[in-house]
Amino acid sequence: MNGPLGAARVTAAQEALYCEREVVLCAGVYNSPQLLMLSGIGIADEPAAHGIEPRADLPVGESLQDHLHLSVIHLTGTGTGPLPGAAGPLAPRGRGLHTSDVGGVGGFARTREGLDAPDIQFHAMPMVLPQGPGTTTPALVNGAALLGTTSRGKVSLRSAQPGAKPRVLHNYLAIPEDRETALRALRAVLRIAYRPALRVHRRADHLVPDSDGDGDLLTFARREANTLYHPVGTCALGTFVDRELRVHGVSGLRVADASVMPTLVRGNTNAAAIMIGEKAADLIRSQRHDVTTSRRRATAGRRTGRPARSRPGGAAG
Ligand SMILES: Cc1cc2nc3c(=O)[nH]c(=O)nc-3n(C[C@H](O)[C@H](O)[C@H](O)COP(=O)(O)OP(=O)(O)OC[C@H]3O[C@@H](n4cnc5c(N)ncnc54)[C@H](O)[C@@H]3O)c2cc1C
Repeated sequence: MNGPLGAARVTAAQEALYCEREVVLCAGVYNSPQLLMLSGIGIADEPAAHGIEPRADLPVGESLQDHLHLSVIHLTGTGTGPLPGAAGPLAPRGRGLHTSDVGGVGGFARTREGLDAPDIQFHAMPMVLPQGPGTTTPALVNGAALLGTTSRGKVSLRSAQPGAKPRVLHNYLAIPEDRETALRALRAVLRIAYRPALRVHRRADHLVPDSDGDGDLLTFARREANTLYHPVGTCALGTFVDRELRVHGVSGLRVADASVMPTLVRGNTNAAAIMIGEKAADLIRSQRHDVTTSRRRATAGRRTGRPARSRPGGAAG
């Protein structure tokens, strides 16, 4: 048999959906800009570079920000491993230690004088590490997230295929100021991790920098840092959407998710994202109320032959 065995190309059916009022996009910080770019809304040539007809030249995908998390890990002797019986109350009563997301210990700090807000957020978390087939060992993570960083990244298209992942470039630590904050953050974390009060629990270093010299700390930060999963900024309020979350110059389109935050909050993002959704709901509802009210007024005006009064609920005349 010639040609590929059993190969078949399936062409997905295309379906057009229309909406009466507006589209509210809330696919998150990576996928909202991707969907917009796939729809021809993007910076100058970006959609066109992928064969997509450009519709609006707007800064989407720019200004990506996130909280970078730097942590050290120590193996512990006692006190941070799984507690026998702790899972017991979870299923029947929804109570007990297993309802914790383990991130309950933390705090905010300024790493230098003169800052008007904290620039790091501490976390301390118990964990278990795999130590071989079927065995684990208890450990303790001490870490800090960098707040108020100035490095900016970008979300762009990898392909015109809707199923393809977007290209995400965070540019963490690209700006010297952020690298300096990372050094101060790691030193603060190490000071806590090596406090005498923790000596009794600390069994061995597991993941720590080679020394507290700038070079070793920065190498460690670049190699071991993680996201704290708080990206924002790719459909920013001001440059991309207006105060009512409407996309500049594109009618019938709003964005309502964490991508509209122009700068990253100095704390976890979920509450702020929920508030953006709540605000969007209020804006949409109030606009519908206006539309309904003006329709009622117009109808009342037609019935009486006189223009309806502008005060909602007021008697005409
Ligand atoms: C692992 C993790 C842990 C976190 N922990 C915390 C925490 O402890 N505290 C805190 O405050 N914040 C936390 N966050 C951050 C918080 O979850 C986010 O800030 C928040 O969810 C952002 O809301 P959003 O609406 O912008 O996006 P999302 O919540 O990501 O919602 C976007 C939705 O769009 C859907 N979607 C995307 N593309 C498409 C598509 N093409 N078609 C249809 N649907 C699509 C996605 O499936 C998703 O449901 C965490 C995030 C992660 C990932």
